Amino acid sequence: MCMAGLKVCENKVGRAMPNPIAMIDYQRCNPEKCDSGVCAAMLECPNKVLRQEAPYEFPFSRPSRFCRGCAKCVQVCPLEAIRIV
Ligand code: SF4
Ligand code: SF4
Repeated sequence: MCMAGLKVCENKVGRAMPNPIAMIDYQRCNPEKCDSGVCAAMLECPNKVLRQEAPYEFPFSRPSRFCRGCAKCVQVCPLEAIRIV
């Protein structure tokens, strides 16, 4: 059972596992490289984990309990600015 806030889940054998987290490397990220300044990774995320206040603003991650570690955000980021930890 997931424990929101503690960022841990139990796997099938009941061992606590950390939730995946989408980390944005702000040394690499450049929203100007995305179409109309809209973060491509944010658009791709099926769980709305990544957010952007406005076009051309840096994106950020919401609390990680929503992240499923699918890496779709990683695949579409043109600057390889996202990694899942
Ligand atoms: S897709 Fe990558 S480069 Fe573009 S805004 Fe998002 S994190 Fe930054
Ligand atoms: S790994 Fe998947 S769920 Fe997590 S932020 Fe990226 S696209 Fe969204």
